[in-house]
Amino acid sequence: MIFIDELKTQLGQDKVSQSESELYRHSKDESFHKPVEPDIVCFPESTEDVVTIMKIADQFNVSVTAHGAGSGLEGQAIPVNKGISINFDRMNRVLDFSPEDLTITVQPGITRVGVNQVTNRQGLSFPIDPGADASIGGMIATNASGTTAVRYGSMRDQVLDLEVVLANGKVIRTGSRAKKSSSGLHLTGLFTGSEGTLGIITEITLKLHGIPAQIIAARCTFDTLANCAEAAQMILLSGIQVMRMELVDKQSIAEHNKHGDYKIPEEHSLFFEFAGTKSGVEEEVATAKELMEELGCSNWIAANNSKERAQLWQARHEMSYAYKHENGIELAGADVCVPISKLPELVEYARQIIEESGLKGGILGHVGDGNFHTLVPFNPSIPGEQEKAEYTNEALAVRAIELGGTCTGEHGVGLGKRKFQQAEHGDALEVMRDMKQLLDPKNILNPGKIFLESIS
Ligand SMILES: Cc1cc2nc3c(=O)[nH]c(=O)nc-3n(C[C@H](O)[C@H](O)[C@H](O)COP(=O)(O)OP(=O)(O)OC[C@H]3O[C@@H](n4cnc5c(N)ncnc54)[C@H](O)[C@@H]3O)c2cc1C
Repeated sequence: MIFIDELKTQLGQDKVSQSESELYRHSKDESFHKPVEPDIVCFPESTEDVVTIMKIADQFNVSVTAHGAGSGLEGQAIPVNKGISINFDRMNRVLDFSPEDLTITVQPGITRVGVNQVTNRQGLSFPIDPGADASIGGMIATNASGTTAVRYGSMRDQVLDLEVVLANGKVIRTGSRAKKSSSGLHLTGLFTGSEGTLGIITEITLKLHGIPAQIIAARCTFDTLANCAEAAQMILLSGIQVMRMELVDKQSIAEHNKHGDYKIPEEHSLFFEFAGTKSGVEEEVATAKELMEELGCSNWIAANNSKERAQLWQARHEMSYAYKHENGIELAGADVCVPISKLPELVEYARQIIEESGLKGGILGHVGDGNFHTLVPFNPSIPGEQEKAEYTNEALAVRAIELGGTCTGEHGVGLGKRKFQQAEHGDALEVMRDMKQLLDPKNILNPGKIFLESIS
């Protein structure tokens, strides 16, 4: 293939690989979607290298799929049309760290833990936490969030500026380092969440935040899932600024106990983290405890040193691995998000759908912002199990959209949520397709993702 020769000549042999192990590594992510190997993997070291790759791809009409840490859950980094995978491991530098401005500018391959290793030394943190040690490029491309979204929102709320290489090799900047701006159209917001379908992100300026002086974790239980969701809503309505607020259903706690030999009360549970000044946090914890007890909670427990906090939250952090510990087991998971008032209804529906499927499975999520997941393990070699597991996802996505919500709160569309885009966006999907056509007329950037009809 001529484009491979061109890549070797123009980039250099040491920045490309066709080894079996690299092709395999870039064929998949953490989802159950079928792997597809690219023809070649490129390892750019600079924006100029990415420009070279895009110009060759444009000239020879070859598909390009960016690959971050490969922790995506919807198949976004799978190069379904083969072609070029771009790996950002060598573009992982901090380009500028300005503690006084609370900003950091990085290349896309650095991970969130990598960013925090630099900023924590100055008492600052980058708080978006999707659980996995994802790359910043991947987190922007999926508009990731996670347990801290209730306080800090998603990546879109934390990005000030992007450098993007477009499909034709042109380089643009989408924002500035100013904390706010009313200038121009919001291209930063457009590229964030675009899953590598509109451009390749090569530089990112992020907002940073002070590390809170005091953190207290707590956990309590309720008799029903709906009670848990209503309690989460009451916390928000009371104005308590929780840092994290997570729900785990009793089936998942039982799975965790069995897997890790723990003895956590096997009830529907709410996990909290409160963070701020010492006196402010202590007051918030006391108010939250009183409120939860008024609503009928049991088993309230709180911890303020870091070891006890980690133990208290362990069940939440290890949950997906508790379900996946048997060999050959895959996980299907919904990622629905609804207005907070609709949450009690949707979590009850989720439990009902899982029971009806005949599979075991659990519910957990970031209930502080109306987002939760189901984890439904299935064995692909048992006929019918995958279909049942996928049905639980579909039923929930459809109901979430009917309730005024979305089929994906944070994992993104990728391959798995394409079929819900029309129902969720209606005529706006046409506008999105027009934007894709404008920015990527040859459809070389991560084809087959987000838009159902563009898969080849
Ligand atoms: C155990 C576990 C828990 C998780 N929990 C959460 C959670 O709570 N919240 C959450 O949001 N997610 C969660 N995820 C999903 C995942 O971590 C996120 O989707 C993450 O943002 C993906 O980042 P990545 O670097 O792994 O990207 P990849 O999976 O490698 O790629 C994701 C997408 O980003 C694109 N991309 C990567 N780099 C670039 C670039 N430089 N320019 C343009 N496009 C690019 C890829 O083409 C692809 O479309 C979880 C995953 C796991 C395995």
